[in-house]
Amino acid sequence: MIRQPKAGLERMPGMKPSSSVSSLASTEKQDVTLSSLMHYTQRPSAKTTGPLQQTGRRHDDRLDERQQEMAEADDRLKGPLIPKKKRKKKSLITVNLSGTRYDVIRQMSEKLGYAVAKDDDPNSYLFWNDCFVATDRISEMKSFQRINHFPGMGEITRKDCLARNMAKVQKQLADDFSFAPKTWILPADHSLLLNYAKDLRAKKKTKTFIIKPSNGAQGHGIQLFRNAEKIPQTEHFIVQEYIDKPLLMDGYKFDLRLYVLVTSCDPLRVFLFDDGLVRLSTEKYLAPTEANINHSFMHLTNYSVNKHNEFYEKGESLSSGSKRSVQFFREYLRQNDINDGLLWQNIGDMIVKTLIVSEPHLLHAYRMCRPGAAPGSDSVCFEVLGFDVLIDRKLRPWLLEVNRSPSFGTDERVDYDIKSALIEDTIRLLNIKISDKSRNMAAQKAEARKRLFRQNKRTDGPDITEYEKKRQSIEKRKEELKETLARIRKVSAREDYENRNRGRFRRIFPPDDKIRHERYVQLLSSTFGIFMSGKAPAMQKEIQRVYNNKLKEVDVMDMLAECEADEKEGKYYTGGTGKPRGPKPLLSMPVSVPSPLENDEDEDEEMEDEETESMSASGSPSMARQGYHPGRRPGSSGRPDSRLSNDGTSSTFNSRPNSGVRSRPTSNMSAANQRSRSLSRTGNGKHTPLQRSTVDDNFLLSVVKEREDELTRKTLVALNEMRIKFPGKSDQEAEYILDKLHENWKFHKPRIASYWLVKLDSIKRRKVIDIVRSNVRAVLLRTWRVSDVDSLKVYRIFNRVFNRLLWSHGQGLWNCFSSSSNATSWEAIFSKSSENICEAELNCCRRIVQLCRDCLLIVYQFAAEAKSSQSNTPHPSSVDEHSSTGQSISARDKSLSLIPPNTQTMSQKYSKLYPATRTPSMGS
Ligand code: ADP
Repeated sequence: MIRQPKAGLERMPGMKPSSSVSSLASTEKQDVTLSSLMHYTQRPSAKTTGPLQQTGRRHDDRLDERQQEMAEADDRLKGPLIPKKKRKKKSLITVNLSGTRYDVIRQMSEKLGYAVAKDDDPNSYLFWNDCFVATDRISEMKSFQRINHFPGMGEITRKDCLARNMAKVQKQLADDFSFAPKTWILPADHSLLLNYAKDLRAKKKTKTFIIKPSNGAQGHGIQLFRNAEKIPQTEHFIVQEYIDKPLLMDGYKFDLRLYVLVTSCDPLRVFLFDDGLVRLSTEKYLAPTEANINHSFMHLTNYSVNKHNEFYEKGESLSSGSKRSVQFFREYLRQNDINDGLLWQNIGDMIVKTLIVSEPHLLHAYRMCRPGAAPGSDSVCFEVLGFDVLIDRKLRPWLLEVNRSPSFGTDERVDYDIKSALIEDTIRLLNIKISDKSRNMAAQKAEARKRLFRQNKRTDGPDITEYEKKRQSIEKRKEELKETLARIRKVSAREDYENRNRGRFRRIFPPDDKIRHERYVQLLSSTFGIFMSGKAPAMQKEIQRVYNNKLKEVDVMDMLAECEADEKEGKYYTGGTGKPRGPKPLLSMPVSVPSPLENDEDEDEEMEDEETESMSASGSPSMARQGYHPGRRPGSSGRPDSRLSNDGTSSTFNSRPNSGVRSRPTSNMSAANQRSRSLSRTGNGKHTPLQRSTVDDNFLLSVVKEREDELTRKTLVALNEMRIKFPGKSDQEAEYILDKLHENWKFHKPRIASYWLVKLDSIKRRKVIDIVRSNVRAVLLRTWRVSDVDSLKVYRIFNRVFNRLLWSHGQGLWNCFSSSSNATSWEAIFSKSSENICEAELNCCRRIVQLCRDCLLIVYQFAAEAKSSQSNTPHPSSVDEHSSTGQSISARDKSLSLIPPNTQTMSQKYSKLYPATRTPSMGS
């Protein structure tokens, strides 16, 4: 295997690039002395000729020391007049590879000059994991970091999820999504499968079916059946129509493994690698018959299956053996006068459409994990997917499955050649820069501050003047235009980078072809309609804005110039006297206050990550600025004061007379933030940095902390009082239902598990959790009196719990029903995290978990009752555990939604009671 030189070595000062690699290869040996390296500087230094002490020290340390000494020697050689500069150790982009077993990732990272970090290093720029990662982990990522998985990707990479989602889109867009073989999910679709087989028999047709475990891989558990009636009604399997006329190569069946890189889902960006693997079976193909359906070497093309056949041929090149390259395959087609370009285009089309199906799920999950991410900011997630494609004799590509952790094993030359290029191009396309850390954090902080400024501006109310309204509307327009301009510039810079660095990738979404692009945008709009129901109109609007934005940079700049001209000419002055009436605009007042973006350039790079992270959400610096109103005495009327004093619990912070200390009780800022960004202002209303620094920090901190604790306690009380309401039933009745479910737990357990883990897709699962989430948000709004709940620390904590409950396709919440230690396993998210949470916050989280559990039970019961009323059968919860009339919801409920459409009476009753939502709700 090719070993690449250590990145750090290439960077030695004074070294000629051409000679560095070969000569440095020798530095890997333990007995290298500095003198052997000094010939690069021509004149050796007396001090540096001795051998280095090596015992008990790490190789990297020794190299750093050598670098340092070389630098010093270099300085000395430049002569005594040049002042000795302290060389700053050059920082490297670090990658954490503790989650991957593939050496090729390390090799390529090092080839690109990245340094492999220690296994437990949480601050790396890039994380590579073979397994998919929990949403919680993605929530915790800092904005400059990247990880190789998206939350929500399971919706196309699990076989049953892919089948379910494809079935949904095929219902409305059959022509566009006919590339997926007909599929049934067992056991739910068993009767549909039998009906299909019956129809075939009536038409005197026979088909072969292939069954696969829902979450299987590498050919495990796959079987072929000639007769659908013989297929067992097994749980967690899918059945697919077998494509029995595949294109053959030298008489063998084969499939293609293609690699697709998704660099972002917000907005979607997809690249197809121009090479891949052709995996051949190892027994010549024959149409399936009863006699050969068990021949896995004939019908399956998996490497993991065929490598066990004695006829498996390890290829010495890209064009021979049982594994070959896609490039070879395309050449083979051309030699046989087949239009490989058209086939390749159809494959690309199929891949984009599959990702269009995934996009509503990806976007939803990503935004849940990364609330408040600046629009157009770099995605922390990316993913290399492995698409398995079968081609039939009519050259039609069929999607067999999508792998979220394709193998990067490099057993054979063809593997190494293709996968190393793939990984190298992938990492390069991510465009990770050492400055990302400071830049992204500054942008995040600016965004948080902007949000705060926006929040606190008043745009209505009886006392706001006409002048102020117009001024604000121009301000708002200017802000929007600036954002649009920044987005356009960002997109064009990104595209420019991609075009120069895409290597062997070709971007397939958004495509360059305009007609294709429009079609894809339409499809995206449709899939949001299919999967998002309630939120679809807003999302569809956003899709049009993001993907169909025809505005050019110059247009936006023109508009901005017009806006600024209006502003200068005072077009918003209502009196026409040239002078505005009413109060002096707030924005122009504190001259000493930097604009939200002003500080960002010289942000201290060394600033603690934790501090910046928490500040990004709270935007504490601008809170201080917002609280500062020269000329207004503490306690005089003004938004912060009135907001804080409303609840009658002394919510203002002016507890020291004339201290001028003021803060929003809503702050989620860390103590460090509050200290460094003082919230103070002096009694006379003047505000200078010096005075700011004289404020009694400890006092401030304790006041804010006390206030936060108090509000957290209030939140807990409110959460404890909250009850899940069963539509059309009183609180007592809802309690009774919950009690009943718990009493008959043995009976309901498998049904609830099937309902939650199998029946509901990720979006519906989220909807269940969202019932609790939206009510919790309402409590926070009321208790903390903020307009932006997302910026509260306590909400961020709650959000992590919600995400945890949705973890692993809902397994997170299901574990909470367990009587073992699993029930509290979600609490581990806090033990591993650097965020300190207090007892009251933890108790709030516990209550939230309990509410989510209750909510699931009520929703389950509601769906089941609705179903029973439809079929006039008594519902399981109303029958005894051992009653023979108790039926499984999972077996019967085919079109499950939280409120099935045919439960009119109940829904109507319910919508009167809870008009805001169509799902069961909570009352507090
Ligand atoms: P796994 O994840 O276990 O590899 P796949 O869906 O990739 O499962 O199927 C394994 C192999 O079975 C494929 O490589 C292909 O050769 C064959 N196969 C799977 N589905 C079909 C199908 N519908 N028609 C024909 N062959 C199929």
